[in-house]
Amino acid sequence: MAYTYQQHIGGEWRDALNGATWNVINPATEETIREVPFGDGSDCRAAIEAAHLAFPGWSRTTPYQRSAILKKAADLMRERMDQLAETTTLESGKPLLQARGEWAVAADLFEWFAEEGKRAYGRVVPSRNPARRLSVTRHALGVVGVITAWNFPIYNVARAGAAALAAGCTAVFRPSELTPLTAMEMVAILLEAGMPANVVNLVNGEPASIAREMLENPRCAKIHFTGSQRVGRLLMDGASRTVTRLSLELGGNAPVLIFPDVDLAAVARGAVTAKFRNAGQVCVSPQRFFVHRAIAEQFSAEVAKVASALHLGSGLLPETNVGPLITGRHRDTVEAMVEAARGEGSKIVLGGRRPANLDKGFFFEPTVITGLTARSTLFSQEIFGPVLPIVAFDDTDAAIAQANDTRYGLAAYAWTNDLRVAQRVAEHLEFGLVGINDWSPQATEAPFPGWKESGIGQESGPEGLLEYLETKVISTGVGV
Ligand code: NAD
Repeated sequence: MAYTYQQHIGGEWRDALNGATWNVINPATEETIREVPFGDGSDCRAAIEAAHLAFPGWSRTTPYQRSAILKKAADLMRERMDQLAETTTLESGKPLLQARGEWAVAADLFEWFAEEGKRAYGRVVPSRNPARRLSVTRHALGVVGVITAWNFPIYNVARAGAAALAAGCTAVFRPSELTPLTAMEMVAILLEAGMPANVVNLVNGEPASIAREMLENPRCAKIHFTGSQRVGRLLMDGASRTVTRLSLELGGNAPVLIFPDVDLAAVARGAVTAKFRNAGQVCVSPQRFFVHRAIAEQFSAEVAKVASALHLGSGLLPETNVGPLITGRHRDTVEAMVEAARGEGSKIVLGGRRPANLDKGFFFEPTVITGLTARSTLFSQEIFGPVLPIVAFDDTDAAIAQANDTRYGLAAYAWTNDLRVAQRVAEHLEFGLVGINDWSPQATEAPFPGWKESGIGQESGPEGLLEYLETKVISTGVGV
């Protein structure tokens, strides 16, 4: 399927109606990779209209027909992994290996939801009235708008898209303007896999006016949003007037509790891999390291030693483990947080500044900081950068209370070999994803639930399909 890097609306690759364009930047070089259309609410209106036209046909196909297309798309993603990963690395900066991993998960999501779509079961309910038969059925919601963040240019889009399409919804994707090329490639693959015209649409452009159109256009049944609390709140404000359904996957501030009985060197190695993945720009990134005082100093030294061997650079180079941050502005924010910590009397054990040897690109050194208190800014706000702050703890219950003392509730981690401690921590942490001796608690086949301000709704797993289905009760009178 021939395509260009454009919007896809009503079965055609299109420029923006207003003719505006946007330069997609490589964050490792600060150079323009490509110019793409940059539309607004009017492009979104056309896309919603197209998706609305396609909805009756797509929602009435059988889940088996939808499954065949979604599985074919998964196969194409796996076949073209190298080229797809390169696009994702170019626009997001992440190392190629991580970009490949992200596409592998996207393929898993399409394949898994291709199957799960077949299990949109209803049920028959025994009625209290002998003259009535009650059944409960599930129905595709309609047109879904999908607004996503740049940190996982394909995973964020695929997680909502695979479930929505498997459920029988049609879609208008609005990827981050910082990383639209990856999503454009995904749409091209879906079309090549046999997706009927108009079922998938993609707009790139001005976020507020596109979101307004999605909220105010009654033909858009739901918005899935992955991004910040700030924008999540704006969408909730808008939806309070239109009653548009919302799924919100928002930020995190994950605590990590490390107990003294662990294999310290192994946990330090794992911590470095998990923390500096995607330069820390991960919603489930381990952030607040609470380390038992008996091993805190040794752990800090070990983590700093392992992190000092990380190679910072362009994600296209095979030796790179840590790429740039997404924009200069975002790097400034991370830098300011580290400077604030310096002012709070902490000790920068490693990094803490822009690398002297890289004069282009939005790089920031892998940073390890100790001597903080749980009240420090680096503990209270999501860092979203390559910074690993550590505080020592003495008492398990006090550490759990500090870990829970946040408005975020996405991921949390604990490392211990004591089963009783593990069980207590797992039960008491107020987070949707808890990794016990595991740095990756998220899975395609399990839900991804953000507690507190980390979100509303659950993507992936069986719960992820339900996000795109409405429930209907059919009551049939059968006489007496
Ligand atoms: P952001 O909220 O600034 O942007 C996210 C998306 O919203 C982008 O596409 C952006 O263009 C768009 N947007 C901006 N203003 C908008 C508006 N007024 N109306 C509608 N859309 C608007 O977030 P970000 O900084 O790009 O992404 C990082 C955040 O995303 C972090 O907080 C991270 O934790 C979160 N995140 C969460 C998950 C999850 O699954 N919970 C996954 C990835 C990222």
